[in-house]
Amino acid sequence: MSECLFCNIVARIIPAPLVYEDDLVVAFDDINPQAPTHTLVIPRRHVVSMAALQDSDGELLSRLMVASNKVAKLKGIVGSGYRVVINTGTHGGQSVFHLHIHVLGGRHLAWPPG
Ligand code: 5GP
Ligand code: ZN
Repeated sequence: MSECLFCNIVARIIPAPLVYEDDLVVAFDDINPQAPTHTLVIPRRHVVSMAALQDSDGELLSRLMVASNKVAKLKGIVGSGYRVVINTGTHGGQSVFHLHIHVLGGRHLAWPPG
């Protein structure tokens, strides 16, 4: 078992029903949802955070964003609108250090964030 929670979800060691998956990306619902739709979109490869991305990771980042939109379509929230969030590092509020995009929707989301 990896020390990384999300690597263990990718490896199917820790169970999480998948909302979407492809060769680079996996998506599953957040265990503590902050909105009616709250899905996490992650790379299969262990990347610590946005801050760890390299110039060569452009395709991966693009695929994560495209997958996030696919998740929003699957969840039926494209028409009403949604938000993608990438918490990064301590001030960004990141608590799991495997890069993930939060896809949030199904209610009006306040701005600015806290
Ligand atoms: P962060 O705070 O790093 O931006 O987001 C981490 C997210 O992972 C949180 O929203 C948290 O609820 C979610 N999370 C933590 N542990 C688990 C888990 O075991 N399964 C799932 N599905 N989500 C988790
Ligand atoms: Zn990981």
